[in-house]
Amino acid sequence: MMSGLSGPMAANRPQLDRIRGVEGLNAELCFSCRKCSAGCPVADDMDLAPHQLVRLAVAGPEGEALRSSGIWLCTSCQTCTTRCPNGVDVAGVIDALKQRAVASGVKPRDGRMLAFHRAFLDDVKARGRVHEMSLTARYALRARRVPEGILLGIGMFQKGKLPLIPPKKTATRELRRLFERGKGK
Ligand code: SF4
Ligand code: SF4
Repeated sequence: MMSGLSGPMAANRPQLDRIRGVEGLNAELCFSCRKCSAGCPVADDMDLAPHQLVRLAVAGPEGEALRSSGIWLCTSCQTCTTRCPNGVDVAGVIDALKQRAVASGVKPRDGRMLAFHRAFLDDVKARGRVHEMSLTARYALRARRVPEGILLGIGMFQKGKLPLIPPKKTATRELRRLFERGKGK
């Protein structure tokens, strides 16, 4: 266990303990070298970069991190985690922030992020894998952006990115069990 914390980290001890105790992600070892953010393929589109999310998760204010679009844009590619010289599981910290945002009902500043996330999960749950056409429709409905969704769908279809025939359903029973287990937590 680390000791001798000072400054904002000491002031946010309960939050630090929550991150460490629940997720055990080594977030407190971050020394802000930014290597994680430099390698992240979507950092430029995030309102808060991965290294900033890690710092907020440790030293607060946590609400800033929970409302960030960054936690929803993260693709869980793990590049940040593998680049960290201190063994911080950056992707794990971001995933934990995302779970906490959902559990505590904190919505991202941009509501489209959450709409897309839920549409994606709905589609995975329904067929075991994503069908772009159905995902686009689910997203448009959830985000209440049907006209935009139709235009997006037409554009994607014209570029051959929207197959009409959905893929065969796979492992839906197992996935449903996983979703049920997730709900019980
Ligand atoms: S690479 Fe690791 S130590 Fe560097 S900023 Fe990111 S989390 Fe912190
Ligand atoms: S896991 Fe997320 S934060 Fe980390 S590099 Fe990939 S997209 Fe960026």
